Amino acid sequence: MKLTKPSYFDTFRCIASDCPDSCCKEWDVQVDDEKAALYRSLPGDLGNRLREVLRDEDGETVMTIIDGRCPMWRTDGLCRIQAELGEDALCRTCREFPRLTHDYGNFVEMGLELSCPEAARIILSAENIDYITEEYPGGEAPEYDEEAMDVLLRTRETVRQILSDSGRPVNEVLTLALMYAYQAQAELDGADESVFDPDAALAEAHRFAKANDGTQMLDFFMDLEILTDAWMQRLKNPCRSPWTAEHLRLARYFADRYWLQAVSDYDLVSRAKLMVISCLVIRQLGGDLAATAQLYSKEIENSIENVESILDGAYTSPAFTDNKLIGLLLS
Ligand code: SF4
Repeated sequence: MKLTKPSYFDTFRCIASDCPDSCCKEWDVQVDDEKAALYRSLPGDLGNRLREVLRDEDGETVMTIIDGRCPMWRTDGLCRIQAELGEDALCRTCREFPRLTHDYGNFVEMGLELSCPEAARIILSAENIDYITEEYPGGEAPEYDEEAMDVLLRTRETVRQILSDSGRPVNEVLTLALMYAYQAQAELDGADESVFDPDAALAEAHRFAKANDGTQMLDFFMDLEILTDAWMQRLKNPCRSPWTAEHLRLARYFADRYWLQAVSDYDLVSRAKLMVISCLVIRQLGGDLAATAQLYSKEIENSIENVESILDGAYTSPAFTDNKLIGLLLS
C-alpha cells in the first residue's frame, strides 16, 4: 500500500538535552504489552526500578511520573532504558514520538506532532510542503466508506490550496477555510461537487460576523483538563499577537491531521472548527508562536478528552458559534 508523508518528515531529529521541554515530563507514558513484559522481567537495579514504577490502569501499562518526570529520565537528558539496553528496548510510544501514523487500512499517512518543540519548529518553518508517497508493507480492504474518503481527500486538497493563498490577509484565509468546510460537509453529505467562490464566501462572512474579544473562548479552555501550571498562566494572561504566515502553516497541520478523521462519523465541520479554534487560541495567547503552539498541542492534542470536548463544543458551546468565530477571525 502507499504511505504519504510531508517532505519535512524525515528531517526530524530529537534535540535531546537542547530540548526546551521534554517528552519525558508531565505525561504518563503508555507502555505496550511486549515492552511491559520485557521491563518487568529484567534483572538487577533497572528491573527493580521498572517493577516499582510501572502500573496497570484501565487495561494499559503506564510509567508513573515521579516529581513531574519519567523515572527513567537521567539528569544528562538521556533515557536510562535507552542508555543501558539500546534504542530497540524503548517502548513504542517513546520510539515513535513525535511521529504520527494514521493507518487507514489501504493507505497510511505520517506526520510530526506539534507537541514536540523540535517538530513544532519544523512544522512552522515549512513554507511549501510536498507530500512524498512511497510503498509501505501490508494493506487490507478498508473498513471505511470509500466514497466518503474520496470526498475527504479531494476537499482536503482544496482546503490546503485555500490555506496556501498568499494574496489575502491571513485572517481572511482562515475565514475562507472555515466557510469552505461547510461546502465540503455538504459534499460529504451527498451534494454535488461545486466550485468554491472565495469572494462570495468572504462577503457572506463579513455579513455574518459577530463582535467577539475571545474571552469566552479562553474561558472554555480554562474548563478543560489542564496539565501544567504554565498553560494555566498563559490562559489567565493572554497577549494577542498579530496574524502571521505561520498561523496558516499551523492551520495546514491541523487540516492534515484531522480532516480525514471525519470518515469515522461524517462530521467534518467540527474538525474544521477545531482547526480554526486552535489557531485562534494560539494567536490569542501570543508569545513565541512555536512555543505557544507546542504547549497548546501538549495540553490539548495529547488529551483525547480535551479534543473531544472541543469537537462537541464546536456545536454546543456559545463560545464557538460560527458568527463568533468569524467575528474573532475578522476583528
Ligand atoms: S520533545 Fe521532541 S526534541 Fe524534546 S526530547 Fe522529546 S522527542 Fe526530543
